[in-house]
Amino acid sequence: MSATITFLGGADSVTGSKYLVEHRHQRLLVDCGLFQGYKQLRLRNWAPLPVAPDQIDAVVLTHAHLDHSGYLPLLVKQGFAGRVHATSGTVDLCRILLPDSGHIQEEDAAFANRHGFSKHAPALPLYTRQDALDSLRQLHAEPVHAVFEPIRGWKARFLRAGHILGAASLLLEVAGRRILFSGDLGRPDDPLMAPPEPPPQADTVLIESTYGDRLHPEGKLFAELGPLLGKLAQRGGVAVVPVFAVGRAQAVLHTIAQLKAAGELPRSLPIFLDSPMAIHTTALFQKHMGEYRLSAAEVQAMDRVATMLETPEQSKSLARRHGPMVILAASGMATGGRVLHHLAQYAGDHRNMVILTGFQAPGTRGASLAAGQSPIRIHGQDVVVRAEIAQIASASAHADANQLLAWLHQMPSAPGQVYVVHGERAASDMLRQRIAHEIKWRAIVPEHGATWPL
Ligand SMILES: [Zn+2]
Repeated sequence: MSATITFLGGADSVTGSKYLVEHRHQRLLVDCGLFQGYKQLRLRNWAPLPVAPDQIDAVVLTHAHLDHSGYLPLLVKQGFAGRVHATSGTVDLCRILLPDSGHIQEEDAAFANRHGFSKHAPALPLYTRQDALDSLRQLHAEPVHAVFEPIRGWKARFLRAGHILGAASLLLEVAGRRILFSGDLGRPDDPLMAPPEPPPQADTVLIESTYGDRLHPEGKLFAELGPLLGKLAQRGGVAVVPVFAVGRAQAVLHTIAQLKAAGELPRSLPIFLDSPMAIHTTALFQKHMGEYRLSAAEVQAMDRVATMLETPEQSKSLARRHGPMVILAASGMATGGRVLHHLAQYAGDHRNMVILTGFQAPGTRGASLAAGQSPIRIHGQDVVVRAEIAQIASASAHADANQLLAWLHQMPSAPGQVYVVHGERAASDMLRQRIAHEIKWRAIVPEHGATWPL
């Protein structure tokens, strides 16, 4: 009997990654992500999985971003009792990200209840901080490149994927088949991360396609961010920078440190990192130096360039300050977190700036801002947007279409089947066409919920 794969998420969407591999009544879930963005997508988080969580034997995470790990607390709450295998970088990040995700969901539910704008009464969190803390006990760190058995007789191995700390591709061997999950692939020229490792031979490949229909413009974060922040410093405005606490926050800080050292920005321009998660992530750099391009001195400079704001009181005290200043806060797509308060406070003034730093999934506030929408809705209120909106293309943590193809093409010989996943439909389909025409491999874009033999 052959093994099968079911696409429970991350098919026809960039979010919700969940790939269920089954063989002889044993089940492995690769990634356990939250759906984010449009409401119809987010509602999928509330629908029961087609497989009972206590019937899943093990989970493997490719990396810690919530669209790959954020469903885990719910899976555990619903009865999943097995191990969750991940690299040590991913385990460290999950300890930061998952409790915070539970906390944000509790806060959002409480806020909705206080202000009575939820259509559900009372609004409930998907899971709590405590649920998230409980789920961490099942995490199990595996060394990169070492073979481990998530299920007896199933062999698995992580390879470095760039992207963010701990991010990995996964090679899985089951029922005589080799299945390669690309995970999220970083760009080979990332300012922080080492490039992804070339793919080993496999029978089946799942490749991400976040930027499957786009190319990153030539140019570096340094060249894009310098003139923007220089202009901001001159006019005395406030820049609100929604950042992914993991990855982009550090790339932006590193670049600002370089800009200041090069005299491109006044050293006196105040920079605030208003995200406990990002602060803790920045601290992890010291522990996992080998995954980065940065020297110890560069990590220190990145650390020192910003004032770190841990407590809510420190965060609120920013509202009493005047510009110029730069505020980095999560979340990166402005879907929640402290950045919302800063957007509500500063988006209405034309001297100010909102700088978007990564992929903005459709349906998020970040995507609305990028599209020039005004007003935008924050905490049940309309906020008129007069601030300058800038989108930094070079801040992406994902490979672009050419880089994805180049990565795939390093495989020693053609796999039997490529599944193009983790993209909006147009992006996935464009990458599928390029794979079919340019390297002439069999590729399809699977439907959400579909099952295929491996
Ligand atoms: Zn990611």
